[in-house]
Amino acid sequence: MKPKMVIGNWKMNKSFEEADDLIIAIGEQIAGLKLETGVVLCPPFIYLELATDQAEEADFSTGAQNCSEYKNGAVTGEISAEMLAKLGVEFCIVGHSERRKFFCESNQTIAKKADLLLENQLVPVVCCGEVIDERKANRHFEVVEKQIKESLFHLSKEDFESVVIAYEPVWAIGTGETATPEQAEEMHAFIRQLIEKKYGTEIAYSTYILYGGSCNAQNALELFSQPNVDGGLIGGASLKANDFVAIIEAAETTVKEN
Ligand code: PEP
Repeated sequence: MKPKMVIGNWKMNKSFEEADDLIIAIGEQIAGLKLETGVVLCPPFIYLELATDQAEEADFSTGAQNCSEYKNGAVTGEISAEMLAKLGVEFCIVGHSERRKFFCESNQTIAKKADLLLENQLVPVVCCGEVIDERKANRHFEVVEKQIKESLFHLSKEDFESVVIAYEPVWAIGTGETATPEQAEEMHAFIRQLIEKKYGTEIAYSTYILYGGSCNAQNALELFSQPNVDGGLIGGASLKANDFVAIIEAAETTVKEN
């Protein structure tokens, strides 16, 4: 089993002081653990430098929650992939369901962002997932397949190798309702098959497919024990150091026990 990856998506939370404290607390708590698990903190843009400064000494990497679909220039309010790269940011979440919903992001926009991130040697963490009505109508596989194909399958093999996928059923995000381990595993296995058909077995196996949606310290071990769940994208539970580190420890346990 390959090492897991745990990414914390802070969304639009924390004051400057709270962000600083949380980054330091997580860094201190994981310092002695000799982790195999990859840990990534994704605070809001304006706290990224706090995280990249600490990341040099600590056992975590830094990610942004979004980037512009444009390269540079007259695009007021945007942050480019190149700016993130120059700051030492290594990962960037794209296509989160909240951005699809509130900012009308399409699969095509997500594809442009993934391209710019890859051009700048950042890892795109591309989110996919169905809303509750799509699951009830048994359309969840079809929806996720379309999201992945339209946002990622234009990539070369070499570029695709750097991509991380996060399956986040929208009905589970921030709701306290988690997908069952079986539901998560079923979708992750489906996504891996899609990748295998397009890019071959080796890349399918090495691609990280993370689960996100009300993952917490209590349910992480069971979710991460599924063979096709390579870790988690964590929202609410990444805002407290103890909870987030407990999830990282769950990820670590699943690998060490196998
Ligand atoms: C997320 O926003 O990516 C997420 C998974 O949120 P939560 O863990 O709070 O459901």
